[in-house]
Amino acid sequence: MEKNMTVSNITTTAPLDTLALRCTACGRSHALEELAWRCTNCQGVLDLAGFTSVMPDAYTLVGRGPTLWRYAESLPVAEPTGIMLGEGMTPLAPAPGRLDIMLKVDYLMPTGSFKDRGAVVLAALAQQLKVSRMVADSSGNAGTAIAAYAARAETACEIYVPAATSAGKIAQLRAYGATVHQVEGSREDTAAAATRAADEPDVFYASHVYNPFFLHGTKTYVLELWEQLGGWLPDTLVLPVGNGTLVLGAHLGCRELLEQRLIDRLPRIVAVQAAGCAPLAKAIGRGLTTGVEVAGGQTIAEGIAIARPARGAQILAAVRDTGGTIVTVTDDQIRAAHAALARAGLYVEPTSAVCWAALRAGLVEPSSQPGRGRMRSCRCAEADSNPSLLPTSRSDPSPTTNRPPGESACPARLPNQLATPKPCTRTRQRDEPATCYSSPANSASTRTVNWTATSLPKPIKPSPTCGPS
Ligand SMILES: [Zn+2]
Repeated sequence: MEKNMTVSNITTTAPLDTLALRCTACGRSHALEELAWRCTNCQGVLDLAGFTSVMPDAYTLVGRGPTLWRYAESLPVAEPTGIMLGEGMTPLAPAPGRLDIMLKVDYLMPTGSFKDRGAVVLAALAQQLKVSRMVADSSGNAGTAIAAYAARAETACEIYVPAATSAGKIAQLRAYGATVHQVEGSREDTAAAATRAADEPDVFYASHVYNPFFLHGTKTYVLELWEQLGGWLPDTLVLPVGNGTLVLGAHLGCRELLEQRLIDRLPRIVAVQAAGCAPLAKAIGRGLTTGVEVAGGQTIAEGIAIARPARGAQILAAVRDTGGTIVTVTDDQIRAAHAALARAGLYVEPTSAVCWAALRAGLVEPSSQPGRGRMRSCRCAEADSNPSLLPTSRSDPSPTTNRPPGESACPARLPNQLATPKPCTRTRQRDEPATCYSSPANSASTRTVNWTATSLPKPIKPSPTCGPS
């Protein structure tokens, strides 16, 4: 349903007034002020158009705080006033017993999950569009994140949740000041109630699934990883997938780095679903371009129990674009992985444990492509000096032998927590990137797993059937 009016008295400033939401199906463009959450012509999902991401150079990054707003030029909305909670720049930790694997510890975000990356961007957008009412639907971490940042933005927030949502979660939402609507029926009924509210005039639908600004927030996961590793990305990213907000954000971030010549190829994305609810894994196994219809599936990984992901076709295309795949793990494997992680000091949600379960089961093999994982190489005076952040299989390239023919040397490098950059002493040529980075000689066995657990994880229990989150 098309909204019959736009928000009144909107004051947008550049670059927001240069941006639009474009339908992925029919190409129709929607101004941000329309507050459309899906195409008003064909109901297709919308992507952001008119934005060009630019990764800040190393010297700029040195002077910025340890939050995701350090990548301001890569974000389509300006840093908000008074909203920030310190989100971003979560640590990397070595995996227990697997030094070739690093863990991105996103459960240390302000509300306990990676959803804060997207939620703060949505709240910033809502603030700049001067909306007075936000709605969202979620039974999990997305609702919590949206409610928290809406509270910071002092914007009225309504969260639609299934009637069966736990009392603790509802209490947390209300504590943030959100109005909670408990909807009887299925998870689909909850989503339908939220979208009816979203179609009302002057309502900003802060949907982690439909709003593409959310993906520009989650892409900072990759930008941080690239910076933390000294200007390169691992061979493989292992990510849970349900609605795909992390997979699509990661792919977006990788694509942007590639287009800026800051990496020389895309990391392979291996996404993980629960066997009890695996519409995307089934589709990729059959060579399909859209998710397979599933119904009645059950899994303890409730955060990815999504039977019909709205961006399913995009997720499949993104994974294929990286040469990756989608694998499944059983609930028994998830339980075992969850217990193993807990014994190693990592108490995560079952949804996050699916990645470790896939690795333990040998479902994520190192890439067989020669040289895969090597970044665009340039001669750098200093190799990366922070081995604690790097897998033991990594070794630095020779300053000369790994430099492509015709590529000149540059002593500038990406600073990390333990090193201060030295100024580049030569003149940059017109067609080369503003910053040069050291690169690993061979990171083919390097993988990074993302943890998205809440800080207050729920105990494992047999639960829910598939449904949109
Ligand atoms: Zn359309």
